[in-house]
Amino acid sequence: MATTHDHARICRGCWDQMRMPIPIRGPLAIPFRVLGITRSKMNPNICTICERSFRYVKKQRHISATATILFADIRGYTHMSERLDPVMLSDLVSVFHDQCAQAIWDHDGIVNKQMGDGLMAIFNFPIKSERHAAAAVAAARDIQHRCAERFTFADLPAGMALGIGIGVHTGQVEIGEFSTFRSDFTAIGGTVNVTARLQAAAAAGEILLTDEVAAQVADIAAGAATRRLDLKGIEQPVLVHVLTNSF
Ligand SMILES: [Zn+2]
Repeated sequence: MATTHDHARICRGCWDQMRMPIPIRGPLAIPFRVLGITRSKMNPNICTICERSFRYVKKQRHISATATILFADIRGYTHMSERLDPVMLSDLVSVFHDQCAQAIWDHDGIVNKQMGDGLMAIFNFPIKSERHAAAAVAAARDIQHRCAERFTFADLPAGMALGIGIGVHTGQVEIGEFSTFRSDFTAIGGTVNVTARLQAAAAAGEILLTDEVAAQVADIAAGAATRRLDLKGIEQPVLVHVLTNSF
């Protein structure tokens, strides 16, 4: 599949949010770089204006938006971190983060947060994407395939398996700045909480989707196993659709 994340000449976030052309590649980008405006680490097709100047871009502290959230982590990481040597462990985590980022960028998502062995991605902000739930599922499947290919750690101690757990949910979120000591934006709200819980409930190799996401990828979710989960902090059991590497 063709990758798009290293082609944009102008920031796709600033364009989609403000119709403002901010050069991020080529000679026109040089004066912007001098001013400290560069490509964002969240996605190389957006710039540090949309990463750090949410209030400037949106003219308010936070906004309500529809987005798809993806959480991914290395299952059994705590156990693994007690048994692997630190160099191998950090290699493994950086391979994981690199593979996740490539997969997420290929589908126009952003890597919003990295927390140790896990990460949170947002689809449909600041790069707009009509089919953001489908894009997130495609990214999730890419993450599983990439990690299955790359994680061939023949020298892992016997009995130690390595796998990724992923959760994807879509709905209303609040996006903006919620911290007084950080200037980058994030997403909060029930949709984000459910996604984090889904990821925590995913076994190695699994992608757990809510009904709302499955409805957007009917061709992929058809025939997938379903499971009812009692998620911490959520009253009703949640029906989830389970994608594995065979899907
Ligand atoms: Zn931008």
